[in-house]
Amino acid sequence: MRPLLPVLALCLAVPSLVAAPPKERGSASRPGLDLKGMDRSVAPGDDFFAYANGGWVKRTEIPADRGSYGVGHEVADLTDRRTASLIKAAAASKAPAGSDLRKIGDCYTSFMDEKAIETRGLGPLKPSLQAIEAIRDRQDLARYLGTTLRADVDVLNATNYYTDNLFGLWVAQDLDDPSRYAPFLLQGGLGLPERSYYLDAAEGMAAIRAQYLTHLVAMLKLAGLSDPEKRAAGVLDLETRMAKVHASREESGDVLKGNNHWTRADFSTKAPGLNWEAFFGTASLAKPEVFVVWQPGAFAGLSALVAEVPLATWKDYLAFHAIQHRSQVLPKAVVDQSFSFYGKVLNGTSKRRERWQYGVNQTNAALGEVVGKAYVAKFFPPAEKARAQKMVANIIAAFRTRIEQLDWMSPATKVKALAKLTTLKVGVGYPDRWQDYQGLKIVAGDAFGNAERAEIFEYQRNLRKLGQPIDRTEWVMTPQTVNAVNLPVMNALNFPAAILQPPYFDPKRPVVMDYGSIGAVIGHEISHSFDDSGSLFDATGKLNNWWTPEDLKHFEASADQLVKQYDAYQPFPGLHINGKQTLGENIADVAGLAAAYDAYRLSLRGKLAPLVQGLTGDQQFFLSYAQSWREKAREPLLRQQILTDGHAPAAYRPATVRNLDAWYPAFQVKPGQTLYLPPADRVKVW
Ligand SMILES: [Zn+2]
Repeated sequence: MRPLLPVLALCLAVPSLVAAPPKERGSASRPGLDLKGMDRSVAPGDDFFAYANGGWVKRTEIPADRGSYGVGHEVADLTDRRTASLIKAAAASKAPAGSDLRKIGDCYTSFMDEKAIETRGLGPLKPSLQAIEAIRDRQDLARYLGTTLRADVDVLNATNYYTDNLFGLWVAQDLDDPSRYAPFLLQGGLGLPERSYYLDAAEGMAAIRAQYLTHLVAMLKLAGLSDPEKRAAGVLDLETRMAKVHASREESGDVLKGNNHWTRADFSTKAPGLNWEAFFGTASLAKPEVFVVWQPGAFAGLSALVAEVPLATWKDYLAFHAIQHRSQVLPKAVVDQSFSFYGKVLNGTSKRRERWQYGVNQTNAALGEVVGKAYVAKFFPPAEKARAQKMVANIIAAFRTRIEQLDWMSPATKVKALAKLTTLKVGVGYPDRWQDYQGLKIVAGDAFGNAERAEIFEYQRNLRKLGQPIDRTEWVMTPQTVNAVNLPVMNALNFPAAILQPPYFDPKRPVVMDYGSIGAVIGHEISHSFDDSGSLFDATGKLNNWWTPEDLKHFEASADQLVKQYDAYQPFPGLHINGKQTLGENIADVAGLAAAYDAYRLSLRGKLAPLVQGLTGDQQFFLSYAQSWREKAREPLLRQQILTDGHAPAAYRPATVRNLDAWYPAFQVKPGQTLYLPPADRVKVW
């Protein structure tokens, strides 16, 4: 569950993880560790991140068009340049109309044709604005809201709790019955990333709200509405009331709180206000009898607002969201205004990225697996797949031994854990079966329509799953995504081809270094199957806690120690990392690093790794780990991440090493140093 790297929610406005090639080259360009990127004036026991990366931090500037910059971005840049070359070749190939190649070419070219977009102006948005204008009563409102529902959220796999629509849909295996798909419904509707942006009294947050109001005024003006100041105030007030009934990020992450099965009839009694029959009708959800309502309190609260808040305010709210949602494919004035808030204020970037990078994003969003299929054919040879699979096998073997040797887990639970490890399905590089895009219509010269049709196509693809057998070959990330993910209900892992690239994975350097970087990632994802959330799902994917109360008690005691470790980190005065919100990920980091360490030793069959770049095998392993997390972030983006993400910021993840005994002798870490932990305080869950 949860991808390895944060997935920032507001991709509608500012797609993350793509940017201009950096001026500064990191370690990606040559095999081995980046010795110049280290800072040997820092004691590794005081600040391992700075020891491994201080030199790089000093001489690297975050590009103006990014909120953060590091290894993940370097690899994403490389991937995007490669992807763009494939897309451009497709565009130039004059492939037959309706073919997949033609679709990716037309999708990209239409997005790049700014002149055509400018000429059409707000024309493509008009049908939506007219439909909003035509809303006469609450029944019309419910019908319109139903048309906005999209498959744009994900509770357990890619983990995205954000949607700018009032609600979001996720279709996945029913947590009570893994033989069938269920429709999950999630809260949404906010223009800011999370409820605390509306409710937190801190000065920084109040300033963001003031700038958001300015943005609302500007966008309503661009949409051609009179009296934008008055309307904007109403929209902000409505969203603030929504925020008040929203569940927090931490609550949304709690599977046991979210797994609420409601029948269709339950909605009108448990969440009165919205005409649910009208809503489900236009959302093409007239058939399902049972839904999973993830945040019941929010559904009651939001539904009540639909009945209480003046219709005129709702219409202003919908007009704003209609133009904001499609800002990327509208004229430059809209693009610029959207960037001035979402890019500058929320992410702290001063410059927009180049248009081709957004074009690659749009094409990936619309036709991800078509592009992915071309990507792996060119950039992920079978030999690399085989090498990655061998690492996976070694790490699973290491994990198995760790489970067998655990002193705290009861024998009965161990049997179940090992069963789960045996049925784990590990996908490397790309899916076994590719998605079919035949029904998706891409029209040359219609960037707006293409974006809209792609979204609806994805929504309908998800609706079609309802009532079908579970497809265990389905991936939730495209091969050209620099990330990795555990799908807890499917008991499966996805390691896309794009993360199997240097410096995470590099056939040209000693394999010890790969175990420290991609190996720790693989271990991280495997361990999610066995952590606090993983323990809730058995080998079939059913929500069925397979731990004894004693197992859970030990686990919780270790977890508490780890919560304290992370709560103590303070990126800004007064703003601590939330040890609880990031607990599952921090456990996975500790467990993944430990399993990768064992696997590297295992792969050498008792021999010592040779000295390379003047470093012992253990030093190579831990330094490679710390360098794989090198990243710098601007303050606004870092604040956003601390408040909304399940992961600790990248710069804090190398501190995981303090929980592994082998790290201490490798770097002569002594009591009294900042990261030193007495053996009893080192967290060993697995
Ligand atoms: Zn994770």
